[in-house]
Amino acid sequence: MSRSIAEIAARLQGYDPQALSAESVGAFLAQLVQPVTETESVGIFDALGRVLARDLVSPISVPAHDNSAMDGFALDGAQLGAAPLQLRVVGTALAGKAWQGTVAAGECVKIMTGAIMPAGLDTVVPQEFVRVEDSLVTVPPGILQPGDNRRHKGEDLMEGRPALGAGERLGPAACGLIASLGIAQVQVLRKVRVAYFSTGDEILSLGETPREGAVYDSNRYTVHGLLARLGCEVIDFGVIRDEPAQLEQAFRDAAAHADAIITSGGVSVGEADFTKAMMRKLGDVAFWKIAMRPGRPMAVGSIPGPRGDAVLFGLPGNPVAVMVTFLSFVRPALLRMMGARATDPVLLKARSAEAMRKKPGRTEYQRGIVTRLADGGLQVRTTGNQGSGVLSSMVQANGLVVLHHAQGNVAVGDEVDVMMFEGAI
Ligand code: AMP
Ligand code: MG
Repeated sequence: MSRSIAEIAARLQGYDPQALSAESVGAFLAQLVQPVTETESVGIFDALGRVLARDLVSPISVPAHDNSAMDGFALDGAQLGAAPLQLRVVGTALAGKAWQGTVAAGECVKIMTGAIMPAGLDTVVPQEFVRVEDSLVTVPPGILQPGDNRRHKGEDLMEGRPALGAGERLGPAACGLIASLGIAQVQVLRKVRVAYFSTGDEILSLGETPREGAVYDSNRYTVHGLLARLGCEVIDFGVIRDEPAQLEQAFRDAAAHADAIITSGGVSVGEADFTKAMMRKLGDVAFWKIAMRPGRPMAVGSIPGPRGDAVLFGLPGNPVAVMVTFLSFVRPALLRMMGARATDPVLLKARSAEAMRKKPGRTEYQRGIVTRLADGGLQVRTTGNQGSGVLSSMVQANGLVVLHHAQGNVAVGDEVDVMMFEGAI
């Protein structure tokens, strides 16, 4: 059961819907949305991008035995000293074929990478470090410490311990790790279902004949892509006219089928008020003015449906504002709904290649192009026209420069925070 807007607002200090800081929006949304609870079992190939429902406890140790990290000769490290060590090779240990004998003082075993360490031996000297004559190996002094080049049983994953925690969003490495445990199926949280539509009488669907003053709908396509990257199930409701009956039908259908609803357009001041009026009529919705640029207006709340409340994100209409508000607010909120542990974007530091004018008292997002300098540091420049309708700037950019609420002007060479797009866009 989700909390009401008023309840959440009462818990937040300094909540003012007319002047919200970007930080307080995040805090608000974290309280508005709840993780899904239903789970399903999927095979590893289908687990990519899904969120683990429970801790995954290792049924085995990986590696299962102490084994060699190198091709070389296994020996007893206690014999290493200041003088060259001469050892007689008494056998061979292969990966998948252990050597079963016992080794006496002055003896060693030829060993391959991944082979189980023979009993009593704890050190491997790589083959390129030794001289081999017939079956005699000479290890020079000073190149090896006892225990070198031995992988320990369970050093990757220990039997009985959690290998992955609940809330882990499974990436390629995690999928491989699950397989390394011999596990073929995992329990994941169900996908979050998100319905979206664009609003506005001036918005053309693809295939419609252009008319004066109308623009093609781009928001549905950026929103679709952003949701697909998150691994959400999507339901596309198309373009909805500024017309009460159509809007009501769209909101009701969306709330009946989805966990979250994303709209774009119709929430700014001076709009023909149908979208806002319908949100108000059907749900518990707050209309915010956020101290940020781009993306000032936003509607947030919940709309009841037969399956429970659907969370509403009413994004502004401008194409860049849609993407910026999605990345800053909607994405972390959806990750939380998905049950993911890590929801905040990682920010990098880069040196600004240019001066930027910035007023303290609002968060500004500039589209940036981050490159690596010869000294290895990161540099960022902006993509020119920062208009909130200039979608080409989002295509050129590889990240967003985040100029924080209290921050002022930026001088050339100053370090700024950058939210990189990789993985999200
Ligand atoms: P609004 O927030 O409805 O006032 O829209 C702000 C600006 O974004 C206007 O110039 C709209 O034409 C434009 N816009 C709104 N929705 C879309 C959309 N789906 N695709 C492209 N542009 C849009
Ligand atoms: Mg509009």
